Amino acid sequence: MKTYENADHNEIDKFDRVSQVWWDPKGEMGTLHTINPLRTNFIMEKITVQAPKILDVGCGGGILSEALAKAGAQVTGIDLSEASILAARHHAEQQGLQVEYLYESVEKIAEERPGSYDVVTCMEMLEHVPDPPRIVAACAKVLKSGGQAFFSTINRTPKAFLFAIVGGEYILRLLPRGTHTYSKLIRPSELKHWNKDAGLDFVRIASLMYNPFMRTFTVAAGKEDVNYMAHFSKNH
Ligand code: SAH
Repeated sequence: MKTYENADHNEIDKFDRVSQVWWDPKGEMGTLHTINPLRTNFIMEKITVQAPKILDVGCGGGILSEALAKAGAQVTGIDLSEASILAARHHAEQQGLQVEYLYESVEKIAEERPGSYDVVTCMEMLEHVPDPPRIVAACAKVLKSGGQAFFSTINRTPKAFLFAIVGGEYILRLLPRGTHTYSKLIRPSELKHWNKDAGLDFVRIASLMYNPFMRTFTVAAGKEDVNYMAHFSKNH
């Protein structure tokens, strides 16, 4: 296992342990499958470049990376859970999909490939790292001028604590217990601030609203509730 300054090894261990269940829609990662079409659409509906080059940071087993590749993108997925990268490669091969998967940090990719991607996506990852602003800065660095960045995470409010942690992990069991730590959740104002510092401009935000009766999610544009996705662009 490689050691990285800006990774929490307890977190990476957790994802190594679930690396065999990424692709089970009824398994522990099932919620990511449920929200995947919504987030893929949130990203691709704003991309005008043909066959965009996309870097998917913290790609896990490749649930989003594959959907982006199927939508016509040239995708590189990176993650510091080696077992997850191996699972992602294996799954893409089985599907006959071309995705480049690397066991590497975004900080390293930013040094090696600055200004190379049309789009960077970093979904459900920032709340698992020690220094999220550094990840945002590296994401900004890999983008071409005119590129777009997409982040999703969970808000740090009492409501988010109740819905995402108590409701999601303990009552509805949408996620494994212990997936999220309240203090590591991120307010939209903080995410916007880090992006601004990294030279990215805010474009739009949307919430993923869960309906426990229908067991479905819907996208609420302009909202920043519990689970949210935010879009930024690099204009300089
Ligand atoms: N983005 C994927 C997976 C989210 S789970 C999806 O939404 O479908 C969070 C992922 O982030 C895990 O695969 C974990 O291994 C990875 N991760 C955590 N810290 C990381 C870091 N510092 N660099 C890269 N990946 C990291």
